[in-house]
Amino acid sequence: MIIAESVAEVRAQVKAWKREGLRVGLVPTMGYLHEGHASLVEKARSLCDRTVVSVFVNPAQFGPGEDLESYPRDFAHDCALLEEKGCDMVFHPDASVMYPPDFATYVELCSDMPRQLCGKTRPIHFRGVCTVVTKLFNIVTPDMAFFGRKDAQQLAIIRRMARDLSMDVEIVGCPIVREADGLARSSRNAYLDARERAAALVLSRAVAVGKELAAQGERDARALVAAMRAVIEAEALARIDYVDAVDGVTMQPVDAIQDGVLVAMAVYIGKTRLLDNFIVGEGAC
Ligand code: AMP
Repeated sequence: MIIAESVAEVRAQVKAWKREGLRVGLVPTMGYLHEGHASLVEKARSLCDRTVVSVFVNPAQFGPGEDLESYPRDFAHDCALLEEKGCDMVFHPDASVMYPPDFATYVELCSDMPRQLCGKTRPIHFRGVCTVVTKLFNIVTPDMAFFGRKDAQQLAIIRRMARDLSMDVEIVGCPIVREADGLARSSRNAYLDARERAAALVLSRAVAVGKELAAQGERDARALVAAMRAVIEAEALARIDYVDAVDGVTMQPVDAIQDGVLVAMAVYIGKTRLLDNFIVGEGAC
């Protein structure tokens, strides 16, 4: 497995692969990898000839007071996991490689898509995501790029950005990978102490309640969201950031529950902000 820190190294290797006619897949990550990331690598390997994984904690997507400095990092462990999963190249740039001191160009959706859901409390987050993903696409020039549905708004925004800017890359969404007890895997789960880890199950429990109501034919988005909120509010360590039902493509709030609606939440467990969601009408979320 190649470990590349420079843009030139990645470009030279990808060019060599492309000269051989090989299809290249990219899995962008912020590291501290777990089985959720591993599932993206497996999907990439099943559809592409070569898989590149970027490991980069992107400063541009963290707002003031967020957890940029404390974000968990363990590059040695990441490399061991990626090697085992058959990744061909890890791109692990320094922040100064991605953002020189006079960096001034950002990619941003000029609709209110990035202002819904997570954007309500993280106003610059998706600008940072779109900018780094654009840079990674320009550096790696992948045929396909793989993103998890755990970050459903991010996936929708990247699909829109790639379409709007005619990016020559196929965006592939991958199912949420969960712990055995239902908690969606996340690098930020590492922040949870034992009590919080138990309390964090309210997210997947609320998802289960929402899914069940939708399956039983509940069509009123407000009633469905209220039932989910009640599950979360019963947990003393949980504080809701949002629970919303939105159109799965546009992220616009909806009144009616129907297939394709995204029901998404962000919930603080103690100081740790966790995400979960489901799409109405889809078995595995
Ligand atoms: P992150 O390192 O948290 O930025 O995540 C990198 C990629 O892995 C994103 O596309 C995430 O949506 C995806 N991902 C993170 N956790 C999971 C999970 N539990 N299941 C599926 N994909 C995930």
